Amino acid sequence: MNLEVRRLKGYYRVSSKIDVKAVDDMTFSATAGEILGVAGESGCGKTTILKLCTAWIKYPLKVVGGQVIYHHKGKEIDLYSLKEDQIKKLRWNIFTLVPQAAMNSLNPVRKIGKIFEETIFSHKPKQKIDQELHKETRERIRNAMNDIGLPREILSMYPCQLSGGMKQRVALSLGLITRPSVVFCDEPTSGLDLVTQKGILQFLRKYTLENKIAVMFINHDMGVHAQLSDTLLITYAGKQVESAPTKEMFAKPLHPYSQALIGSLPVIGDRERKIGLTGSPPSLIDPPPGCRFHPRCPHVMDICSELEPEYQEVAPKHFVACFLHRS
Ligand code: SF4
Repeated sequence: MNLEVRRLKGYYRVSSKIDVKAVDDMTFSATAGEILGVAGESGCGKTTILKLCTAWIKYPLKVVGGQVIYHHKGKEIDLYSLKEDQIKKLRWNIFTLVPQAAMNSLNPVRKIGKIFEETIFSHKPKQKIDQELHKETRERIRNAMNDIGLPREILSMYPCQLSGGMKQRVALSLGLITRPSVVFCDEPTSGLDLVTQKGILQFLRKYTLENKIAVMFINHDMGVHAQLSDTLLITYAGKQVESAPTKEMFAKPLHPYSQALIGSLPVIGDRERKIGLTGSPPSLIDPPPGCRFHPRCPHVMDICSELEPEYQEVAPKHFVACFLHRS
């Protein structure tokens, strides 16, 4: 296991008395050589999870409770026990974040090769940057271009000379170039055409396995998760509602919200009209009592608005928070 998240809570402070409970008591882990997918509707806390896991915490977001632990070379590193300068050393070396629309974050006045070099050197002690490291770095960057399927010539180009798909490949490759053990990807393929998207996903899958990194992959598209994720975590209104090996989740989703997400996927030849969920996710300032999904749940019972269902393991590696599946 490379990443362990224990009972994590992160709220946005709107005023002295009002909090938006964006991540409210989540526990999960990410394993070496595997991709953990996180799915759910917009506003259900997916991006906030990444911010909390990478200590990218700016007001009004605050950590209310829980721990984020990195397991690295036999050591447990408790993220929130570290000072800011210690956390800076972990970024890029132990974990990296490929943010949403990362391709737009490439420095427009730097050539691609220079951007890679600066990223690598900025995380090395100055006294270690010598001729030998320059040579090794150039080789590493050229190999990275091969791996991600881009011609080496782009290293002497500016970002504006590349297509959107090429820039996104560069952004992903940049997130991997320092060889971190955990990589967080926030919708890395959104806005790309299907062929480019497939190429990026295949690369990420292969890289994860070969390099034994753990990837946490945020995406709202369940079709992408079906292709890529090993384990799928479904979140709703700041809560984790179900987690299972992806194949099992698609074959037998247990939580009514997971069933709705998976049931909304189109199937070739299926002409039946899909019935979506009614209503919309609740306000996270004052979420519904009990199960937060109860105002929209087709199976709601009296108990659902009174008590919060526990998140329980109902089969090996299959967890769900729903009174329909209490053990
Ligand atoms: Fe529906 Fe109740 Fe299960 Fe929540 S706990 S998902 S409201 S059945």
